Amino acid sequence: MTDQPTTSAQGSSPETSAAAAGARRLLIIGAPGAGKGTQAGRIADALSIPAISTGDIFRANVSQETELGKLAKSYMDKGEYVPDSVTNDMVRSRLSEEDARDGFLLDGYPRTLDQVEALDGILEDGGEGGVDAVLMLEVDYDAVIQRLVARGAEQGRSDDTEETIRRRLEVYAEQTTPLVDVYERRGILHRVNGMRSIDEVTEELLSVLGAR
Ligand code: ADP
Repeated sequence: MTDQPTTSAQGSSPETSAAAAGARRLLIIGAPGAGKGTQAGRIADALSIPAISTGDIFRANVSQETELGKLAKSYMDKGEYVPDSVTNDMVRSRLSEEDARDGFLLDGYPRTLDQVEALDGILEDGGEGGVDAVLMLEVDYDAVIQRLVARGAEQGRSDDTEETIRRRLEVYAEQTTPLVDVYERRGILHRVNGMRSIDEVTEELLSVLGAR
């Protein structure tokens, strides 16, 4: 496994923005409530790649009452992560679909160091190189608690209750923040301030990717 930055076909300049130009295998990470889903949809549309959200796939399974959904729900409702083995298999299968061949934006995966390793393996097996760029939405915790409580009231997402939100933030801090260092060392992490307006955040993400 190499920790060298992956440069894209178009951009090998040392400038961070230029280095991400042409990037097609993207990750978006950030705390619960950071706005990942909203931004992922916009960025993926702009680049004509699929946005793949593990949370959305789990929720779709929960509403269809599949076996995977039943299992996932028992973790999601407590604010815990679904076990890595389950999540990794699900992502492997999703990334093998035709629409993800020329790129994708993964939202909510990887979330643990084990998942980082699994994703490296999946991409290596696919023979298409590694992750090109990781977009990190930075937000402050108090503000996201308020956003999520509001979303829970509006949309009735069963894991948007104050107690579960606090647990999700704890789990994020424990298990997901270590990923920031990993991708930073690879030279592909781009931090973006997620506390500005939705449009401003989108603009900055696109500019980091050299798509503006
Ligand atoms: P948020 O980022 O606001 O927590 P998501 O929709 O991304 O929302 O995830 C909701 C829940 O789905 C998580 O709390 C977790 O239980 C489960 N989940 C999503 N992605 C993963 C993952 N990569 N690994 C394990 N569990 C996950």
